Amino acid sequence: MRRVVCCALLLAGCYRPPPRVLHVQVAVGPELRRQTGWRNLVSARLRALSAIFEPLALRFEVANISEWEPDPKQSLEANRRILAGFHASGDWIELGFYGSRQADGEPGLAVAYDPRVLVFDDPGAGETQQAAGLAHEIAHLLGAWHAHSSGSLMSLPPGTELDRGTMSCLRLTRSVNLSRGPSGLDAATLQRLQELWTASKAEASTNPFYRFYTSRGLEAVARGLPSQAEEDFTKAEHFAPGLAIAHVDLGNVELAAHEFLAAADEMRKALALDPKSSGAMNGLAAVLVVTGHRGEAIEWLAKSVQLTPGDPRVHANMGVVLANTPGRIDDAIAELREALRLDPGNAAMRHSLDLALAARQQGRR
Ligand SMILES: [Zn+2]
Repeated sequence: MRRVVCCALLLAGCYRPPPRVLHVQVAVGPELRRQTGWRNLVSARLRALSAIFEPLALRFEVANISEWEPDPKQSLEANRRILAGFHASGDWIELGFYGSRQADGEPGLAVAYDPRVLVFDDPGAGETQQAAGLAHEIAHLLGAWHAHSSGSLMSLPPGTELDRGTMSCLRLTRSVNLSRGPSGLDAATLQRLQELWTASKAEASTNPFYRFYTSRGLEAVARGLPSQAEEDFTKAEHFAPGLAIAHVDLGNVELAAHEFLAAADEMRKALALDPKSSGAMNGLAAVLVVTGHRGEAIEWLAKSVQLTPGDPRVHANMGVVLANTPGRIDDAIAELREALRLDPGNAAMRHSLDLALAARQQGRR
């Protein structure tokens, strides 16, 4: 018996996962290209990345390095999405270097099980730190979440140590097919990952499955695919039921699909979790307007304006609702002017103000 146990321990100690090579297509934005020898720099960072993930037998090989002109007028998330991705083999990563890291902030932008990842340049940081930042985002891509211990690869700022929790996660996800999202994991692995995540007591918003489905839902909204978005936000909510924003996201797509009862239900669930949720108040107000409960909608919007007086969208929403409420045109114009004062370049708000002014000109009160 003792001999069997010894052998088992020896085997466990010797266990090495089968090697996996991930091919990396690198797109380099203007910041990093200002450095002399930037192509060599990128190759060196990828070698450092392989060294960090060596205990997991993960190797990262440069497939190609190209110049990239991201669109600074678009959000970072939109720029991450325009990186190609989802190579059928599931062994490809699309890595974009773009933007600068804020002090102590996240070193890039990655979504669990999504092969498109942005990494910021960190001016003034040494190459060890730059590689740690890159490895941090790649670990997010493989489904890892933030660690509490300083010095860990998954803390902020990132260290280089693969802490136990991160190792446990990455051992389960290291072979995931990156073209299939979480469906590239079998049910038992998915359950084990959820147990690990729950035991880590991480913040609800960092749940990798929540992150994946929310990100895919938002992308579906941006691409005009509401039923895909609704499906994704429903799954996202399943993984973060205590998170108000998960209910607001789902409520908003239900509202867009004219599923008013369901939308109101989600907004009220969000408000029960976070009574100050501006998104939920505005979403609920929108449902109440279209279902003929204008007075109650205005009450929610007034509460939202009171809680977030610096948010131009809240004033704009109030302005639009008041503009269509008899006797409130002057109040509507005041709200829309305040919205534009806070966000002077907003064309939609300008258009709403012009309509309200024209309505008053025609004698509407
Ligand atoms: Zn992070």
